[in-house]
Amino acid sequence: MIRRSAVAAAVFVSLALSSCSVNDGGMISETRMLMGTIVEIRVPRGGNIAENGTRELIHDAFSEMSRVESVFSAHLPDSGLSRLNRSTTGVPTEVSEEMFALIQRSVQMGKASSGAFDITVKPLIDLWKAVRIKGALPTEAELNNALSSVGSEYLRLDPASRTVTFMKHGMSIDMGGVAKGYAVSRAAGVLRAGGIHSAIIHAGGDMYCLGRRSNMAKWKVGIQHPRNKQRIVFRLPLSDASIDTSGDYERFFLLNGKRYSHIIDPRSGYPTGEYVVSATVVTDDPAYGDMLSTALSVLGPDALVRGSFADNSDAMMIVNEAGSLRAIATRGFIKRFGDVKKIPF
Ligand code: AMP
Ligand code: MG
Repeated sequence: MIRRSAVAAAVFVSLALSSCSVNDGGMISETRMLMGTIVEIRVPRGGNIAENGTRELIHDAFSEMSRVESVFSAHLPDSGLSRLNRSTTGVPTEVSEEMFALIQRSVQMGKASSGAFDITVKPLIDLWKAVRIKGALPTEAELNNALSSVGSEYLRLDPASRTVTFMKHGMSIDMGGVAKGYAVSRAAGVLRAGGIHSAIIHAGGDMYCLGRRSNMAKWKVGIQHPRNKQRIVFRLPLSDASIDTSGDYERFFLLNGKRYSHIIDPRSGYPTGEYVVSATVVTDDPAYGDMLSTALSVLGPDALVRGSFADNSDAMMIVNEAGSLRAIATRGFIKRFGDVKKIPF
């Protein structure tokens, strides 16, 4: 028996998954459906720019996000990424400066995370998409076949010619773990360049708090209880900061009663298990936070401890230990926001 989270539910939950909600009131707010999720931009009323001008800037920010989607989507056949994905093995393909830079950053994150984050994971994503449709687990041969085409070390990047070469047959790239954060950072850039001093950009699991909520106060972002979206369990005061969350409870499918996440462990070829419920990262760069939160979902809490990969980041995780939820955070996160052990799940 296979069950998918219904589209309407997925959309609703994706807004909620971000695990974040913001105190409202007196906001100019606009919403669009972009990159498979609901994107909301809010600007406090009474700011330095009149309402009409603010709405125009919000519109421009959405246009920029839509442009980013049209470049980095692996679903749109005309995107720059899809063109790259159609390239012949061993033949260098020239890409835009923007594409080259984001691929380069993604490969760096891949190395830093020992392969937990890997944009070449697409053959596995396609395999598990087929599993969802067929309702049957992959055979070992199918799994090994997809795995053999995964690995950033088989991507050759040449900065001089700005080319990308797939060095193994069957390779393709999926930027779903970074493009949304990147789009959020670009949207923040549009608002900032237009003179907006205060705004929230909220795209599913990725949120950027531009400036402060008011002269008096920072933005207050609430982490929702993962199983009860009405309950805020932790509050983070933020300004000029990005908060990015990856988790299993937004997009997943059920097969034979087991839950399969949309995040794949590129090392095993399997979707991440049910242990890590969510991973949240606070940074000043949404693209980085987006990648890191995805990597942490794969790596689990070991990546947060002293001396480990994410030790120097402000990151927290909610894990499910035999049905009971527990939060774990890096030293930096606890110092900045308080002890997550006290979260009342
Ligand atoms: P996020 O919601 O930011 O955690 O990103 C998840 C998306 O990133 C998935 O829907 C895939 O498109 C892609 N993805 C899945 N697993 C990985 C991985 N291990 N490394 C990089 N991207 C991934
Ligand atoms: Mg992410």
